[in-house]
Amino acid sequence: MTKSTATKKKRIVFCDFDGTITVNDNIIAIIKHFNPDGWEEIAERTIATELSIQEGVGAMFRLLPSSLKDEVISYGISNVRIREGFAEFLAYCKANDIAFYVTSGGIDFFVYPVLEKFDIPRDHIFCNGSDFSGDRIEILWPHPCDEHCDNHCGMCKTTIMRRFPAEQYERIIIGDSVTDFEGAKLADVVYSRSHLTTKCQELGLAHTEFTTFHDIIAAMTEERQAD
Ligand SMILES: [Mg+2]
Ligand SMILES: [Zn+2]
Repeated sequence: MTKSTATKKKRIVFCDFDGTITVNDNIIAIIKHFNPDGWEEIAERTIATELSIQEGVGAMFRLLPSSLKDEVISYGISNVRIREGFAEFLAYCKANDIAFYVTSGGIDFFVYPVLEKFDIPRDHIFCNGSDFSGDRIEILWPHPCDEHCDNHCGMCKTTIMRRFPAEQYERIIIGDSVTDFEGAKLADVVYSRSHLTTKCQELGLAHTEFTTFHDIIAAMTEERQAD
């Protein structure tokens, strides 16, 4: 694919939330803070891929009683720090007609409130759900894997990406972890940090490292100027 054909396509960004838009990883921070018996074993088995992300996250939250609802929600929100340059990056996307979507393995009760001030249309935010009506916190999975993915992602990033075909879109992914890697393989452009960078290096996938969203704006601007 040459650059000139790529640039005729509509650019679309799929941006991870935890550890990407935010500085920290919220799911682990919440679980660590409330520290229910048995969470560490579940986390270890998830990291070792004995459990899928969906099974691991579901099981960890099931350790918490729904009576903790208000505390869990307020901790989840207050714990978040937004990565530098995020608001500027959203403005850059708007000014340059780049569609912006959040594809997050995070959970509605912290993702939506944290993003509220950024004026992102709600239907551009994909994340998991939550149900506090039973004894225990139950995570809901409204965006499961389609027939092309059997990773039991929970919130399936590649399923969302496939709705925007490569023939029409230049697909750009921004992420930080191994759970972004399948999406990175589908994408035309990858902006990575942390574990996603390592994984891209190991498997020889082209990527641009970033620390702040200012880095991404600079890289995108440079690429445009090179055309
Ligand atoms: Mg992440
Ligand atoms: Zn999937």
